Amino acid sequence: RRLTYDAIVLGGGAAGLFCAAQAGRRGRKVALIEHSDRPGRKILISGGGRANFTNLRVDARNFLSANPHFAKSALARFTPQNFVELLREHRIPYHEKTLGQLFCDRSAQDLLTMLLTECSAGHVDLHTSTKVTAVTRDTRFRVETSRGPMDSAALVVATGGLSIPKTGATAFGYDLARQFGLAIEPTFPALVPLTFTKADTARWGELSGVSTEVIASHGKQHFREKMLYTHRGLSGPAILQISSYWKPGTPLNLDLLPGVDFSTAPPHEARKQLSLKLPQRMAERWLDVESFTQPVPSVKKIDTRLHQWSVVPAGTEGFDKAEVTGGGVSTNELSSQTMEARQVPGLFFIGEVVDVTGWLGGYNFQWAWASAYAAAQALSVG
Ligand code: FAD
Repeated sequence: RRLTYDAIVLGGGAAGLFCAAQAGRRGRKVALIEHSDRPGRKILISGGGRANFTNLRVDARNFLSANPHFAKSALARFTPQNFVELLREHRIPYHEKTLGQLFCDRSAQDLLTMLLTECSAGHVDLHTSTKVTAVTRDTRFRVETSRGPMDSAALVVATGGLSIPKTGATAFGYDLARQFGLAIEPTFPALVPLTFTKADTARWGELSGVSTEVIASHGKQHFREKMLYTHRGLSGPAILQISSYWKPGTPLNLDLLPGVDFSTAPPHEARKQLSLKLPQRMAERWLDVESFTQPVPSVKKIDTRLHQWSVVPAGTEGFDKAEVTGGGVSTNELSSQTMEARQVPGLFFIGEVVDVTGWLGGYNFQWAWASAYAAAQALSVG
């Protein structure tokens, strides 16, 4: 027996759950297909288990895309305040951590439970452990699944990006876009730790675990946040942020002493003074590695080096460690009002599979909610 729907949503992550719930609540008959046994696995591990579900200050500048204007319309029509209202309705406690980032007080499970409750309220048919084997389209979409065929007037692709394969990530969304002739912007790991070359690992590897505030820059982008040395390279919020802009083979520019003028320190006190400005281990290592103290310390040289550390990373930790995927379904192919493919009526792409990638800080979830909302509104017209 074939199941018939107004809309089938593929992928039970943040965007898919929210879109299915919104369309269902507006009276559409909706199916949500998730290939793994549980929806929302990435939501549960997000924000260290507390889900940084949005940011109080959202602007198109907080996103990367081949078309930086594309996200504006959807972001304006579904704001962080709209999402916060939903949390209030569900009595979910939350707090602002830093830089406008909102987190659940208790656990990301609260957020997932809210989305599932909303799906139930919208009478969404949730099909978990369901594999899609083929999608075809004539006047309607026909979706062949491991539970038999389903058909629908609209198909919403919310299968996410390539990051963290163990949470269920697949290239399905990109493959489906290609099947329908849509262009893809090349994908790359974003919000990802960067690795050292062999020589830099030998120099800095022992600083693994040391964290310090830096300004990380690449081109016109600057992020003043914490940086963490790891045994393989660099991580922490400043590095994750700049990694989305970094291009292989290019240097990363780091100010390791933001706002501190070290050039006037008395040379005979360089070691002591630097230990007051930086974590002790880092100060010691920098002085030793750079031989700044031979024969007389040049504080000016130390100051310049620390303010303008230029390091060429060997690469990134890849999709296994990347929080998101950059690139994706080209925004040229989609309506910025509805997320519908211009050439394929009824086919929508939402969330991370689209070439819109947010900064660290709740922006990727906000894009998932806003793009899902735009599509759900379009599904409910007529
Ligand atoms: P996903 O949430 O990835 O959902 C896609 C779903 O589709 C998955 O359930 C997957 O199993 C399913 N799927 C895949 N292929 C198929 C298929 N062929 N058939 C059926 N189903 C399929 N962002 C923030 O804003 N704040 C945070 O705090 C935050 N923390 C993060 C922490 C980690 C460790 C990671 C990895 C990411 C984090 N992110 C965070 C990013 C955020 O989780 C994603 O941007 C967001 O989940 C994207 O939503 P989505 O619905 O597009 O994709």
